[in-house]
Amino acid sequence: MKPGPFVHHAPTTVDEAVAVLGEVGHDGKVLAGGQSLIPVLSMRLATPGHLVDINGVAGLDAVHVTDTAVRIGALVRHAGLEQHDEAATALPLLRQALRNVAHPAIRNRGTTVGSIAHADPAGEMPSVLVLTDGVLEAVGPGGRREIAATDFFLGPLETTLAEDELVEAVRFTRFAPATRTAFLESSRRHGDYALAGVAVAVDVADGVVVGARAGFVSVTPVPSVLDLTPVLGGWDAGAPVPDEVTDAVREFVDPEGDIHATADYRRMLAAELTRRALATATQPTPAADPASTTAHESVA
Ligand SMILES: Cc1cc2nc3c(=O)[nH]c(=O)nc-3n(C[C@H](O)[C@H](O)[C@H](O)COP(=O)(O)OP(=O)(O)OC[C@H]3O[C@@H](n4cnc5c(N)ncnc54)[C@H](O)[C@@H]3O)c2cc1C
Repeated sequence: MKPGPFVHHAPTTVDEAVAVLGEVGHDGKVLAGGQSLIPVLSMRLATPGHLVDINGVAGLDAVHVTDTAVRIGALVRHAGLEQHDEAATALPLLRQALRNVAHPAIRNRGTTVGSIAHADPAGEMPSVLVLTDGVLEAVGPGGRREIAATDFFLGPLETTLAEDELVEAVRFTRFAPATRTAFLESSRRHGDYALAGVAVAVDVADGVVVGARAGFVSVTPVPSVLDLTPVLGGWDAGAPVPDEVTDAVREFVDPEGDIHATADYRRMLAAELTRRALATATQPTPAADPASTTAHESVA
């Protein structure tokens, strides 16, 4: 199918984009990489009268690494962030997760901010943003505001962003230098949306776990973080991951069954992937590439 008729707006500044969004209200949609929006329009699941195409807006394509965060603008493509060595060194979880987002062709066009604004529970980057206690920088006719990632997601494809607001950038908060991370997911084919996925962040001191958190993909309605410190605190990082961890994950996740997998299967996957991700993250010898602890796992 083809999209319904719309007016294409091509602002060149954030202020112009926001002015148009303010004028057209609920009849407008921001167009970034189009990798989610265009299929939605083509299937006529949405028929907005105005598309505010931000691809010509200057200054939105930068990645800034500071002592505390990796800040990425709304036009940074998944591939651009994935290939950004400074960002991968500052926050290896970014590259670990991005390698699992769709196929390279889609990563070349789709934006990381767009995937967060789209709020698909099967997206990898919303979960990573929440796991890092990240922040969204939004701008609307009333000015700028910051939204904590934990306050942003209301449900599948539903957020607290107002219809006349643009997400200008997001900030992934950096972990402490000693924090080890890993990202694992399982899907039918590499590049497909995950049946289940997990990002973990583990703090180890003197060989003992002192903190552990996990964020999930495709098994919770909104990205949310499970604090595993109560069950893993004091665990010898070289020892097998205790069963209490998988029990805690099974209890925490709330998957839906669909044509691809039953809810029970997704629950099992989430628990097993978490066990493996924790084992990967706490391997005594870090990989030479700090962002290399990623894998597309097949879980029997
Ligand atoms: C075949 C296929 C497989 C895919 N597999 C995966 C996958 O495995 N994992 C995954 O995470 N994603 C996957 N995607 C989606 C991809 O990552 C998209 O690029 C991403 O979800 C949206 O980014 P975009 O820049 O293309 O946004 P668009 O499609 O342009 O926009 C998506 C939505 O976000 C809104 N939006 C975008 N940018 C902003 C902004 N700055 N401010 C406010 N609202 C904004 C739009 O209005 C729209 O509602 C897949 C896509 C395809 C086509």
